[in-house]
This record gives sequence, structure tokens and C-alpha cells, in this order.
Amino acid sequence: MTRLRSQQALKSILSDYFKGLKSPVAWCTSAGPAEILRALGFDIYFPENHGALLGASRAASKYIPRAHQAGYANEICSYLTSDIGAHLMGETPLKEAYGLSAPPKPDLIVFNTNQCREVAEWFGYFGREFNCPVVGIFPPRHLEVVTSADIDNVTKQFEELIAVGERVIGKPLDYAKLKEVVRLSKAGSDLWKQVLQTAQQTPAPLSFWDGTILMAPIVILRGTQTAVDFYTDLLAELRELSQNNNAAVPSEQVRLFWEGMPIWGRLRSLSDLLTENQAAVVASTYCNSWIFDDFNPTDPLRSMAGAYTQIFINRGEEHKLTVLRQMLNEYKVDGIIFHDAKTCFNNSNCRFGLPGRLTADTGIPSLTIDGDLNDLRFYSDGQAQTRLETFVEQLKGKHDR
Ligand code: SF4
Repeated sequence: MTRLRSQQALKSILSDYFKGLKSPVAWCTSAGPAEILRALGFDIYFPENHGALLGASRAASKYIPRAHQAGYANEICSYLTSDIGAHLMGETPLKEAYGLSAPPKPDLIVFNTNQCREVAEWFGYFGREFNCPVVGIFPPRHLEVVTSADIDNVTKQFEELIAVGERVIGKPLDYAKLKEVVRLSKAGSDLWKQVLQTAQQTPAPLSFWDGTILMAPIVILRGTQTAVDFYTDLLAELRELSQNNNAAVPSEQVRLFWEGMPIWGRLRSLSDLLTENQAAVVASTYCNSWIFDDFNPTDPLRSMAGAYTQIFINRGEEHKLTVLRQMLNEYKVDGIIFHDAKTCFNNSNCRFGLPGRLTADTGIPSLTIDGDLNDLRFYSDGQAQTRLETFVEQLKGKHDR
């Protein structure tokens, strides 16, 4: 997971980003309208990124019980519970990593329920905590088809957000600036897509595990030249590796797809386990969620409304089936792992028969493992290891026949 030059570059980009955050600051969901906030002149902080840091640093288990004490239930989003718990305990992994005593205070909080309603509760909590204006974007949910009426609806909500943002920041939105930010977001997104597509090669130079780390700039620095430059360099590095047959998993024998949230506290051990078993995880809908093909700088607001409403998590099961079928084919996948994240039903796509329909359609076997993004009480190392090793062996057996 650490063989790429770009991972070193990423460390300094993240350090500059966190140390450079200054008022006025807007908090935003990871697939929220960051371009509007950036064009208005806010620095942007992403609580989900903080949630992932709490998971990856395995500090989440310390903070989740504190949120339970404050009335947040066991079964709800463990980004929410670990983040609120850390806030209540006055701690953050940003301190050790970047010397920040706390996440930056918000001047405006913005969420988009295109991913889940949980973000409304999570961000609403911090609105009350910091006595800060909160704006929610509520698009139509679980769509099979996104219509132009849906896009009108979201565009109108973006216009209302702009009015609030202008009041908070004290100046009107510069539409030329918005177009420029959307242009940079589109460029970054196109490059990120090409980065992920390098794993269509056999053997793959990039793994899902690498992707979960390398995706940080397309989430937190979307709409900046920094993100564009980073992905330009990363793409060149991956193409070079690919030309030299330098694979993420040496002696790759089996190609897997990861469906659902990462298990942040087990990225390393899962990567090691599957690598030892010659299994490369070559694609995921998670990393692909920050590809926004529809961004168009000549029509910034409507194109953002379309792009953010069309994301995978906000779609109906028929559309999800179509996307998965296409990705399994493009990435030459042998088997699919569904992660049933116990505190995120929104991004666990194994609960309504989709794995069975997908296998019936494609002949590609699937395995569902229980776990969670941050709450490791829902995850068993032993059980996951046994099930993954058995699954990979079965797939190897299929190859041999
Ligand atoms: S999509 Fe899932 S993990 Fe993300 S904020 Fe919503 S409930 Fe939490």
C-alpha cells in the first residue's frame, strides 16, 4: 500500500491543506456543492474526511461510546458517532498529524442528503453546537432516472444556498470564479477517473486500498489546481508502472471488486491478507463516487445539480445493477465482495437481493462480509479472514478448471 511516489507527495499536500485552513470556513459533505463554497471564498472542511481519519487511526472506538451517552444510537452512522464523540471529548487525530487542537470552527455548514439523511442530523448537531447557519440540499432520492425536473429542483436549492453564503461572506458570488472552480473540478475528476481506470490493466498497477488513500484530494481539494496537479503526476506514475508490469499485487491471480464502504481500521490488514492470497481488489463503486462526468463550466449550477444528484449511492437498484455489471466487465473481475456496513445501510447494497441478481446476470460469484466503516465491534478479523481466503481459493479453482 505504500509503494507509490505520489503517496509521499500526498502527505505534504494534506499537511498544507489542514494547516492552511482559515476563516471564513464552510463545512461540507463529501459530495456536497463544494464548488459554490470555494467560489464564494470559503475554505472548506469535510467532516467525513475527519470521520475516516478517526476510523483509520482506530481512535473511533474510544469516541463512539461517548456519542451513545449523548443519545446517539448504536446502529447509526459511525462517522457521525465517532466525530461527535471526539468533539465531546475535545480530541482529534489532526493534533498529532498536523498540530491542530480541533477542526476549524465553521462559519457556514452545508450538507447534501444525496448520500443519506444521517448527514442532516450530524451537521445539524454542529450547527447547534457552533450557533452557525446550516443549509441542507435535499435532492430526490433513490432515482432510476434523473430527470430535468430533478435537476431544476436541485439547481433552485443551490441558488438559495448561494444567497445564504453571500450573506455570511458579505459579498456576491463571482460567477466567473464559479465557472473556473467547476472547470478545475471537472479536470480533477477526469484525471481521477483515468487514475482508477489504470487498474483495468492486468495485472493492475493500482489497488482499491491505494485508492482509498489517494482519493483524498478529489474529496477535500476538488476545484483546485493542487488536485489537478496531483492527479496529473499520479496518472503518469501509474502509467509508468503499468508499462513495466509493476503490479499492486505481485503475481496477481484473482481480481476482486469491493462494493460498499471501506473498513477504515482494517485497510492494511485486509490489503496484506488479500495480497498474500494473490488477490487484487481492482475496483469499487466507493472510489468511483468522486467521478463527476457531468460537470460543465459553461453551465456550472445545473451541471453540478446533475452530477451530484446522479451519484451511485443516490440511485435505484436497477441503475446500480447496470453500473456494477458494466464495471465488473471493464475491470475483468472474478469475484465481488459486498461489505455489509452495519451502521451505513445507505452504502451497503447487499440487503435487497442485489448480489444474487448480479451473479445471476453475470455469472460472477459474490461474498458478503459483515463489518463497519468505523465501528469495529461489528467486525471479526477471524471470520473475515476465513471467508475471504475460502472465497479466493474458490475463484482460483474456477480459473484452473
Ligand atoms: S453515507 Fe453512510 S457513512 Fe456516509 S455519512 Fe451517510 S450513513 Fe454515514
